[in-house]
Amino acid sequence: MPAPGIDVLIRGAGPVGCALGLALAGSGLKLRFLTTADGKPAFRPIALSYASRLILERLGVWARLRATPIETIQVSQQQGFGRMRMEAAEAGVPALGYVTEYAGLHQALYAACEPLLVREPCEARLVVHAEGVSPTAREKRYGQDALVALVRTQPDSATTAFERFTPEGPLALLPLAGRYAVVWSCRPERAAALREAPEHRFLEELASAAGHRPGRPIAAEARAVHPLMLRVQRTRVGSREVYIGNAAQTLHPVAGQGLNLGLRDAWDLASAIFDGADPGEERVLARYAARRRLDAQATIRITDLLAAAFLGSNPLVRAARGGALAALDMLPGPRRFFARRMMFGASALP
Ligand SMILES: Cc1cc2nc3c(=O)[nH]c(=O)nc-3n(C[C@H](O)[C@H](O)[C@H](O)COP(=O)(O)OP(=O)(O)OC[C@H]3O[C@@H](n4cnc5c(N)ncnc54)[C@H](O)[C@@H]3O)c2cc1C
Repeated sequence: MPAPGIDVLIRGAGPVGCALGLALAGSGLKLRFLTTADGKPAFRPIALSYASRLILERLGVWARLRATPIETIQVSQQQGFGRMRMEAAEAGVPALGYVTEYAGLHQALYAACEPLLVREPCEARLVVHAEGVSPTAREKRYGQDALVALVRTQPDSATTAFERFTPEGPLALLPLAGRYAVVWSCRPERAAALREAPEHRFLEELASAAGHRPGRPIAAEARAVHPLMLRVQRTRVGSREVYIGNAAQTLHPVAGQGLNLGLRDAWDLASAIFDGADPGEERVLARYAARRRLDAQATIRITDLLAAAFLGSNPLVRAARGGALAALDMLPGPRRFFARRMMFGASALP
């Protein structure tokens, strides 16, 4: 039987767990966070969707974030034709997304939750898994790691993001306060070599993969490598327990969807239990799971598809990819839908 004292124990005080905690403020539910001591996280750029901005505004943390708006996204492929350009105005939003840094975002959310931390597990009417991993999830390791770096270019970055598909994997250059946050997915050996390479060598390799449009890379710092995998928790609810954020699904960063999806998990879970007397009740959790199913499944599929579809140097595949990009560039309807799908999740479905 659950202990009478605590209503909700959130295991993991990462950005998604903390967002849930903030969204439950004022619900009257008694919360605690179970955490492990975190070291300083490696540099990790985060592209937040417009929908995430709306959530973070409601949680009262948006104004404290340093975030650079993305007004244009240019998608192209190395060694091939086909280019697509998406504009915020066309999608009907002030920005297609906002680039910020994991550590700053986490700190802004964490500060409000710190008084509720506990170091030892305790019983609760609902246990929320927000640890970022789940030992029971199905796992597929991609043949890629993500090399991340913060790069200065000439000229400085402004509000255009570049997504470039290379034979080894997608390369994103996201504008971040005048510089570019680079997320470069490539073979694990190559990612390790790029991290260790002397700076001038790294900059040359980046310039050759990125093409001339983002400008000339002149300095790089904060290089780090993240292993990439798809992890999906089979059932996101159990007996008085629920999985959210990366504990429910860990995605390839190709479309920058992981945290955005996790914030929608947190928001929907808070809405489902906010007024309920018993947050761990089976009926309440089943309703939450049903509400998340479409958004989560569609986002997982699209991301996995993108990670695979844009791999490989086979000329036929490259031509098909080029054709798809060129077609999207000419068709405002599907392009607008694609942009809104990435910004709002399943709620953008017609
Ligand atoms: C290179 C890269 C780029 C990315 N770019 C984007 C992007 O542009 N946009 C986007 O939306 N997403 C992006 N993501 C994904 C995003 O980082 C994750 O989806 C997000 O961090 C998930 O947040 P979370 O709180 O669920 O998990 P985490 O961030 O993993 O936080 C989990 C927390 O739980 C703690 N914890 C772990 N184990 C335990 C335990 N046993 N008990 C208690 N606490 C525990 C951890 O220390 C951590 O603090 C990217 C990921 C990578 C790797």
